[in-house]
Amino acid sequence: MARVTRDIIEQVRAAADIVDVVGRHLSLRKRGKSYVGLCPFHSEKTPSFTVSADRQAFYCFGCGAGGSVFDFLMRMRNLSFGEAVQELAGRVGVALPEKEETPRQRKSREFARLLVQANEVAADYFHGTLLQAAAAEGAREYLRRRAIPEEVVHEFRLGYAPNHPGGLKERLLREGLPLKIAVQAGLLAQKPRGEAYERFRNRLMFPILDMSGQVVGFGGRALDNREPKYLNSPETPIFQKGRVLYGHTFAREACRQHAEILVVEGYFDLLALYSHGIRQVVAPLGTALTSQHVRLLARLAPRAVLVFDGDAAGLRAAFRSLELFLRENLPVRFLSLPDEMDPDDFLQHRGKEELLQLLARARPLLEVFLEETLGGHDGSVEARVKVVKSAAPMLRLLESAMSREHYVRLLSQGLGTSEQALREELGLDRAGGAPAASRTRQDGGRFASWEEKVLRMLVHYPGLIPALKDNEGLEAFEGKTWRNLGRLLVKHYHATGLDLGSLLVELQDQETRRLVSAWSVEESPWTEADARLRLPEYLEGIKARKRSRLKDLQRLQQEIQAAEQSRNESLLAELLAKKAALLAEKDKGKANLSKGEMY
Ligand code: ZN
Repeated sequence: MARVTRDIIEQVRAAADIVDVVGRHLSLRKRGKSYVGLCPFHSEKTPSFTVSADRQAFYCFGCGAGGSVFDFLMRMRNLSFGEAVQELAGRVGVALPEKEETPRQRKSREFARLLVQANEVAADYFHGTLLQAAAAEGAREYLRRRAIPEEVVHEFRLGYAPNHPGGLKERLLREGLPLKIAVQAGLLAQKPRGEAYERFRNRLMFPILDMSGQVVGFGGRALDNREPKYLNSPETPIFQKGRVLYGHTFAREACRQHAEILVVEGYFDLLALYSHGIRQVVAPLGTALTSQHVRLLARLAPRAVLVFDGDAAGLRAAFRSLELFLRENLPVRFLSLPDEMDPDDFLQHRGKEELLQLLARARPLLEVFLEETLGGHDGSVEARVKVVKSAAPMLRLLESAMSREHYVRLLSQGLGTSEQALREELGLDRAGGAPAASRTRQDGGRFASWEEKVLRMLVHYPGLIPALKDNEGLEAFEGKTWRNLGRLLVKHYHATGLDLGSLLVELQDQETRRLVSAWSVEESPWTEADARLRLPEYLEGIKARKRSRLKDLQRLQQEIQAAEQSRNESLLAELLAKKAALLAEKDKGKANLSKGEMY
């Protein structure tokens, strides 16, 4: 593995042309200053996928995918950032310095290679046994009964681990694999000083693949009454349950077509859906979803649907993952199956069409969560506090102001309180009441802040960037995202005269990258004269807001002192809370970048 340095990234970026790279994956047509084509990330009939040669950025006005040439490759080919750089380096002829391997690194690479090899040999053995061995008749019969077609058995390399020992061990030895490795891979088990023996017995075997399609572990389902019903390979350097999703490599293509990914709970749920031609589906390996899982999902598709058992446990499992989805800003819906059925049952009894209908009607998970939380609400103050307490952290994670509005409304109706009171209670509102003034409606109903408008203007007219620096407007910006982006614009402008392609690569936050890409490929909403006129106004607005907030703070401070002197504890607590809210407002983390409703 070569080392990817900043310098290399910059060389590769400068040498690669985004139009050329994208053009290898889809057909582009010139339109005005940009190129357009059919988006590879969602299905569409008229092209809204736009590539700018000047700005070296892409953006899809249909699904909101966007970024630099690296973002495109990462998404298109499911690569990590480092892999995308390396791949492109190869194409444009930038040499990557080979990194000297330490003995320890060599050893762990060799260990990983042997683990994969042992798993591959085992997968072949199990698969061959399932297809041919007389002892596997029960397993074959079981698959027939569960209506798994032969093609799917082949495609997923399903296997059978026989009850009688010796076969796998013999095969591993014949392939020259040390038994110690097979024990470490969890294929064989060994008692102290005892002989190694097969760990999986009389089980249907599901090989689990990593990103590159190699077998890294197994799930085994008992075909008799033994426990546990499902036995997985133990965790090894190549196999971590929190990072792998079953079916991942088979789902990619369909995810791209449907711009959506379904998550089911078990191997058979997945195979059942797959057998019915619903292929945009993955399953965690009997564990709760982790943040790495959700990140993996986000790389596969722009939206997810949880298709979980329609019982209380299924619902709880879904709710546990809600926060992860909100943190990744990946929209997620919840499909609850009726009558405590799992997807496999449902398909067998009610069929594919009905499932697709349910899928189309699946509701946002957050909505289901709020409804369920409200279910225990009996009108008492205690119940109300409880609802607000469990809903608040979720609502605060929503990045889109519009979605937040929507859910606050939903919750306020359920609780029978005013939206304003609820917003305050949820800590979603500013103490000083400045917000309405600082946001104006534009762009199809989305609220754009002054900060956002200023930055967008500067992307279109970089010549105006010095205005940002000269009058110190930048430091008054609210929202870390905006401040950081502003600083980057200033820095790049002075270094290179603003090369947006280079700035995009340096932007860490994916959402901001998307937004800047969108601005890079759009027609400017302002004429240059207009921008010159408006920019100072907006900057003045930002500074005035900061001044008024400072004044609020001073006033609050005086009130706090007065309350302290008069020992009015309840007033003091209220004032201190207001102060904390006011201070938090300034650094509300990310600004309100939203996904769907941007343009
Ligand atoms: Zn698209």
